[in-house]
Amino acid sequence: MSEGEEQINVYECVRCGALVKSTELELGIRCPKCRYRVLRKIRPPIVKRVLAR
Ligand SMILES: [Zn+2]
Repeated sequence: MSEGEEQINVYECVRCGALVKSTELELGIRCPKCRYRVLRKIRPPIVKRVLAR
């Protein structure tokens, strides 16, 4: 198994609705716009194929 791809998570601020990438959250979970600390994790548009047998 190889997991070479970098997975980027995207968070949405529940207050102002700003989308924040996980790469921009090095200092912790916090909205860069309104500094609200409650972000919800949303799924990136890229969907991995999973083989279901
Ligand atoms: Zn915000």
